[in-house]
Amino acid sequence: MSEILIKNIGHLVTEVGAPLRQNVSVRIVDQEIAEIADTVDPAWNPDRVIDGKEMLFMPGLVNTHHHFYQTLNRNIPAVQNARLFEWLKYLYEIWKFLTPEMARVSAQVAAAELIMSGCTTAVDHFYVFPEAHPEGVFEAEVEAVQEIGLRFHPTRGSMSLSQEDGGLPPASVVQDEETILSHTEEVINRYHQPEKFGMTRIIVAPCSPFSVTDTIMKKSKELGEKFDKVYFHTHLAETLDEEEFCLQETGMRPFDYLESLGWMDEKTIHVHSIHLNQDEVQRMGRAGASISHCPSSNMRLGSGMAPVVDMLKAGVKVSLGVDGSASNDSSHMFAEVRQALLLQRINYDEESITSTDVLRAATLGGAEAIGRDDVGKIEPGMAADIIGIKTTALDYAGAQHDPLAALVFCHPPKVDCSIINGRIIVDDGEFLPLDLQQLARRQNELAAEQISRLS
Ligand SMILES: [Zn+2]
Repeated sequence: MSEILIKNIGHLVTEVGAPLRQNVSVRIVDQEIAEIADTVDPAWNPDRVIDGKEMLFMPGLVNTHHHFYQTLNRNIPAVQNARLFEWLKYLYEIWKFLTPEMARVSAQVAAAELIMSGCTTAVDHFYVFPEAHPEGVFEAEVEAVQEIGLRFHPTRGSMSLSQEDGGLPPASVVQDEETILSHTEEVINRYHQPEKFGMTRIIVAPCSPFSVTDTIMKKSKELGEKFDKVYFHTHLAETLDEEEFCLQETGMRPFDYLESLGWMDEKTIHVHSIHLNQDEVQRMGRAGASISHCPSSNMRLGSGMAPVVDMLKAGVKVSLGVDGSASNDSSHMFAEVRQALLLQRINYDEESITSTDVLRAATLGGAEAIGRDDVGKIEPGMAADIIGIKTTALDYAGAQHDPLAALVFCHPPKVDCSIINGRIIVDDGEFLPLDLQQLARRQNELAAEQISRLS
């Protein structure tokens, strides 16, 4: 048994929206929160005591969309100023050179960045299985993240509709349906942990309407439904180009197309969902589906603004994602929370969305989207996924009238403490699992190597 005591906590957020508590202690036993108490019980016998004085502790954030392998492809000059389809066509030609080592190192970079910026649970949409290295890329990613200790929902993504068949990606990054389905089943059997506190859960995730066939959408859903707590994930209504593609190829708008394939339910996360009309927003809410809102990427690619305020009113489960690093180009979770608040205020009344709304989306909203009732708040019996930030930092000087909202309105923080599943990952600002300088150096070498192969 291991026991951690965080004592004298300056401000404790047990759940976004609940009143903050002062001068309390949180006792963690093994992987769960055991007690929240005003006084320290002398009978406790912690292996480690953390002093929470002048710190704010809160539930770790949940990131519901990323493409970890894209940390190799940030800020590429040729596509700094491109829209989605042109950006993708250029990047597919680089992604076809992805190797298992690249998948491993880039995943560790993404996981480390996410953790340092407040995330304790993340979804990753992995969908590139290059013809040259189809074996082991996904496995390399999953195992690299497991080593670090991030709570992880990797998606077995897929692309099955190549240019020859009317899709957007080249044949070099597309797989046949049988390979996709059999590998998806294999990785569910190998990694999926449906039990309480499960650290790895697989999500099934055909990439987008313009890169997969309708058959793979239907068969992926049927396959995932056979397993407990396997969820679903896909890009929906990201751009007007996608809308035009769907109207031309299927005679339906993207939303109608996905709905017709059985992809509108409470187990499905729709990424972006920018170009939905009001009727579609209402139908999404009634279906109990969720979205992963990725404001930085949507701005970066000029894709548009998701109607998040309308979605919240309609009962859509709203969560937040940083999106892949080729279109953000940062995996900073708190920065995404801030973007989510500021962007909506361009189109909506300033009182229609608050820091509480976006922080809720980043904690309980994310947990609900991926079907977890063991993360997103701090109370006995929940997973010990907790982050701590020093309230005395210069960034928050003068902002302590509301210490939690300060993390949204002021400069996005890096965490001083992160505990995931009862394991200390960041201690007094130091990332413990590995040497980040060494990791960054190797990532730079691999990023240069991958792009150098582009002819
Ligand atoms: Zn994406």
